[in-house]
Amino acid sequence: MFKTLRFRLTAVFSILIILAIVAVDTIVIKSYEDSKIEAEEVKLFTFANIVSDIYKGNIQDEINLMLQLKEYSQNLNSRILVLNEDREVFADSYNEFKGRKLDGAEVESAMNLKPLSNIYRLEGKPVLQLAIPVSENAGSEYRPIGAVLISSSLEGVYREMGSLKWTVASVSIGIIALSMVLIFFVSGTISRPIFNLTRASAKIRRGRYGEIVNIKRKDEIGRLIETFNEMSKTLYVVESNRKKFISDVSHELKTPLASIKALIESLTLYENNDVGIYRECLKDINTELDRLSNLVKSLLTTVRFGEEKIVPRKENLKDIVGEVVKLMSPYAAKNNVKLVNNTEADCMVSCDRDKIKEVLINLIDNGIKYGDDNKPSKCVEVGLDIDRKVFALNVRDNGKGMDENEIPYVFENFYRIDRARDGNIRGFGLGLSIVRYILDKHSWTISVRSQAGEGSVFSIYGTTL
Ligand code: ADP
Repeated sequence: MFKTLRFRLTAVFSILIILAIVAVDTIVIKSYEDSKIEAEEVKLFTFANIVSDIYKGNIQDEINLMLQLKEYSQNLNSRILVLNEDREVFADSYNEFKGRKLDGAEVESAMNLKPLSNIYRLEGKPVLQLAIPVSENAGSEYRPIGAVLISSSLEGVYREMGSLKWTVASVSIGIIALSMVLIFFVSGTISRPIFNLTRASAKIRRGRYGEIVNIKRKDEIGRLIETFNEMSKTLYVVESNRKKFISDVSHELKTPLASIKALIESLTLYENNDVGIYRECLKDINTELDRLSNLVKSLLTTVRFGEEKIVPRKENLKDIVGEVVKLMSPYAAKNNVKLVNNTEADCMVSCDRDKIKEVLINLIDNGIKYGDDNKPSKCVEVGLDIDRKVFALNVRDNGKGMDENEIPYVFENFYRIDRARDGNIRGFGLGLSIVRYILDKHSWTISVRSQAGEGSVFSIYGTTL
């Protein structure tokens, strides 16, 4: 469990937050403590100065000085000592050290006209000790005539700091705990989609294409999920198409194979068949074999297109149309179809000549195949319209046409409209899918306008050079 992303994120961010809070707390507490001590120092220096003035004014009146010292001492909760120029205690608010000689860093410094303060621990208690000089003007400079020494307990300050530390610590612990809970939930919003994505990927690996992750978000993870879902749907479509293709191919193969088998069986059933019957049957078998071989050829073309690359060159579409019409004319005539070439203008395009010929052959072949025998004359006409940089190459026929609802499907693999309608027409429903594939590769498009009983127009659109 502790190896999961969620716990790792929680642990890392919690440690960072703890470190940040500890650092901030330390800085805040330390500067607060410093400011408190500084305030105490300023207060004591002020009083020391007052005492110094009093001393100077009452050097002869010791009793009055003592009275005032005691009062200040009580107010400040500190001990105040006044030293004479020989470092002897002249007055002590605690009335203990009178006449005693004192030394120490603060006294020494004060006697050198420099005020000084220090913090000591006396019997385990924090004490702020400061001394200022008492000086008189001796000509151009000052001369020390004594010092005021104040000793004040900092216990109050430290007690206050102690309770502040507790307050800060408990607030910090609260914040850390709350942040940890928040981080745990927030990291869940990162780790949960990853977990779901991993689970969905595992399902796809086991073949369950189309599996999607149902989380809607607008951030990077949301986009990752969206892309994953699209990929999964594409895989599903590809897989479904693959299955459909295999099933369609098997189905197409089944029919000629069944016919061949039936023909061979019928031959073996009758004895004394004359040569004519054999010949008839073998002719039918040959037709079925032709159909099989055509099917295999179309299948190979369809499959190969996935790998084949088109080789575009500068070509004149008018020439390509002319070539194909010439090639198809005898076949059209054999089927009583008038094939007309109406392309007049030159039209320079970038295309793979052989592939575009294949497209035209397919379209003209369909126009001939799906001609309407009930019409007095069957006709397929190829025309070219150019409008500035866009051309439209139209293959128009007056054949059987198609129902509106069938049109969207005619470009799909193996799609054939109403097999009963075209009972004796041997198509596989692959021609138009090949056409569209080739045109896609050229970034050209194709559209159909058709009406049952009226005829169809297949229009190819592309850009000229
Ligand atoms: P096929 O090899 O069966 O002709 P296609 O992919 O070329 O396959 O065409 C798909 C279907 O579209 C055909 O089965 C046919 O029903 C219909 N179709 C195609 N071209 C025409 C057309 N010019 N007139 C009427 N129907 C057409």
